Amino acid sequence: MENEMTSKINPARLWNDIIESGKIGATEKGGLCRLALSDEDRQVREWFVESCRAEGCEVRFDELGNLFSRRPGRQPDLHPIAIGSHLDSQPTGGKFDGILGVLAGLEVVRTLNEHGIETEHPVEIIDWTNEEGARFAPAMQGSGVFAGVLEKETILSCRDRDGRVFGEELQKIGFRGDDVCGHHHPLDSYFELHIEQGPILEAEEKVIGVVGGVQGMRWYDLTLEGRASHAGTTPMEMRSDASVAAAEIIIAVNRLAGEIGEGALTTTGVIDAYPNSRNVVPSRVFMTVDLRHTGIEILDRMEKKLEEAVSTVCSLREVSGTLDRLWDSPPVKFDAECVGAVREAAKKSGHPLREITSGAGHDAVYVSRVAPAAMIFIPCKDGISHNEIESATPDTWALAHRY
Ligand SMILES: [Zn+2]
Repeated sequence: MENEMTSKINPARLWNDIIESGKIGATEKGGLCRLALSDEDRQVREWFVESCRAEGCEVRFDELGNLFSRRPGRQPDLHPIAIGSHLDSQPTGGKFDGILGVLAGLEVVRTLNEHGIETEHPVEIIDWTNEEGARFAPAMQGSGVFAGVLEKETILSCRDRDGRVFGEELQKIGFRGDDVCGHHHPLDSYFELHIEQGPILEAEEKVIGVVGGVQGMRWYDLTLEGRASHAGTTPMEMRSDASVAAAEIIIAVNRLAGEIGEGALTTTGVIDAYPNSRNVVPSRVFMTVDLRHTGIEILDRMEKKLEEAVSTVCSLREVSGTLDRLWDSPPVKFDAECVGAVREAAKKSGHPLREITSGAGHDAVYVSRVAPAAMIFIPCKDGISHNEIESATPDTWALAHRY
């Protein structure tokens, strides 16, 4: 690479791209509604493809609609070094989540072109289809099929809430390609720049987050069965009250995180009581539990404590409890060499950096199963994301992009 002065990106140009992209599916509050495979998704893809072709890139898309824009390298036999993320958004999403990572790839290509820099490997910019999972669930479908974690046919036939089929909608927007999705498209390495979507970098006044990995998460459904009875005639000591058991379990789950320490996170996000009537002792409560940590052994310990808490409370309150684990996403450790490259570049920039673990899922999680991968975080205002007021500034991402 050339000296630092000539190989820096142009933050104003990248900012301009963010603004241009933000016009497609713009919401009143300055955010985005650009659901996967919607007409807005088509528009932003067409705009992006045009921008890439203007830089001399060859653009291809696979059968899942994942979009690959390639700038040739000196050695065409080498696998591409990829930079990417996603262009879709939540229904009330922000302009930066995902979009920054894709457009940063375009800015890197523009910078290389501008300075006539040749690379050994091809450089590829990737837009993964449906990262958000807002319209078609689950999330991270394009990268999930690419990595062989999700079934292609299952995804192509999944439906949105209006009954529309993924594969047909993809066809309709004109981005269903012929390329087989997955290992037919090897990557040398993959880098994803993303807003942190949390408050840590901003609070500690750090500019670059060197992301070592993504924490593991386990999701549980818990159903508590008690006995419905009259609120006015059933003495307290003769009740089998599912809500009281639920309340004690919520507290126990919250305490569990403190007992484990080391960054353990626990959440009880859903609680439904039946029959949900003010003068009936609840017979049943359905609730969910979300456990997160970077270590599998710690997650195992958390799960054990959760099981103990449920059984202790249930026997004390004379209700029965059924705990089902319905999702287990193991912790991800990104490739040491890729993370090292990010760390070195960040150090060289002289700006404050911090080692960080991602609390949220990203395309890089799946891609890391089939290619060496790493992520770079930049702060976002007040740690807010998945919200129209999501914000980041050119200063921060320019620092994160000194190649
Ligand atoms: Zn994202």
